[in-house]
Amino acid sequence: MLGATGSIGTQALDIIARYPDRYRAVVLSAGSRVDELIEAARKHRPRLAIIAREDLLPKLRAALEPLGIATAAGPRALAECVEADDVDTVLTATVGYSGLEPTLHAIAAGKDIALANKETLVVAGDLITRLLRHSETKIYPVDSEHSAIAQCLIGEDPARVERLLITASGGPFRTWETWRIADATAADALRHPNWSMGAKITIDSATMLNKAFEIIEAHHLFGVAPERIEAVVHPQSIVHSMVEFVDGAVKAQLGVPDMHLPIAYALGEHTRLDGVSRRLHLADYATLTFEKPDTQKFPCLGFAHICLDRRGTAACAVNAANEIAVAHFLRGELSFPGIYETIARTLDDTTFIDSPIYDDYVAVNDEARRRAEEFCKTIRK
Ligand code: NAD
Ligand code: MG
Repeated sequence: MLGATGSIGTQALDIIARYPDRYRAVVLSAGSRVDELIEAARKHRPRLAIIAREDLLPKLRAALEPLGIATAAGPRALAECVEADDVDTVLTATVGYSGLEPTLHAIAAGKDIALANKETLVVAGDLITRLLRHSETKIYPVDSEHSAIAQCLIGEDPARVERLLITASGGPFRTWETWRIADATAADALRHPNWSMGAKITIDSATMLNKAFEIIEAHHLFGVAPERIEAVVHPQSIVHSMVEFVDGAVKAQLGVPDMHLPIAYALGEHTRLDGVSRRLHLADYATLTFEKPDTQKFPCLGFAHICLDRRGTAACAVNAANEIAVAHFLRGELSFPGIYETIARTLDDTTFIDSPIYDDYVAVNDEARRRAEEFCKTIRK
């Protein structure tokens, strides 16, 4: 489990604890929240616990080695732990670009992947799709929209799919005027109406870049052409996404907004477990509404089709710029519209590589981060 202390990681640990006959966590890892990692390891007794920040290893070791739990630190340990014989499935629940390297190791080792870290497919979806053709690995999406689409596609002929309709809550600023959004603070943007998630994805939901990323993710997961994938705003987050078929039929998956369900469905390799989620009582919801997304108000949505048209390293640069811009915004050093400006400017200025190999993604990610940092400093509020 990569990212065991986060929003997805802790919910996945709930599932593992609730279904002990099916699951055991053999490796738990975290970025820097060492106390939470120690707590999780005490409870779930993995074979190995890994912390990304190497300076925190002594603390981890002192707490866990007396319990017979091995410890390690650093990006290499994180990438290589996925290859162990006792690992069947790798849950990628870290944030951002950091998910890429361990995912590539998991594919090389033929491990199944429960994929929460959508940024991996955004950054290097073409590379991953190519590698999957020569690997035993299967990817099971954790993202609620992609889990919904996977559920709708079961028993269907992929060639008969007309469109994927990805629902979006619209985020906290759906009903705000543009002038008011311009002054939005981190606290405003962190107030998501329906989902409680990590800070980075919550900001991505407020800019709607998260939905752009999900369109890219859906393209790579399901092989549907970009022009056949659309976002539709559905503020109640009950319909998790839909698939339209050539005959005009539309299938949807519904449920209360609760990530336990898509996590369990992915870990179970698309089997259904008893009583994972609270029940949906449709009569409790007076109305379910749908509307077109406002791309004027949320220009980040446009990056989906820009990236899927340009391909190459375009989405890698967008992701890197966004990670930097979101960090500045969360520290109160960048305005909310500054996130879009930073991404647009970085995308224009960063080297573009048409048919990238792995090293090109690494180089473009580094360059885009550097350029985005410089740009954020010049437009500091
Ligand atoms: P989070 O911030 O709550 O948790 C992130 C986890 O990753 C933590 O355990 C942290 O310690 C770890 N981490 C951070 N940097 C790391 C690094 N460099 N190396 C190793 N571990 C590192 O984030 P989250 O909301 O759980 O999101 C995780 C991923 O799942 C993201 O890609 C997000 O887009 C995706 N996702 C989340 C949700 C949700 O409901 N939270 C829904 C759909 C998709
Ligand atoms: Mg989602």
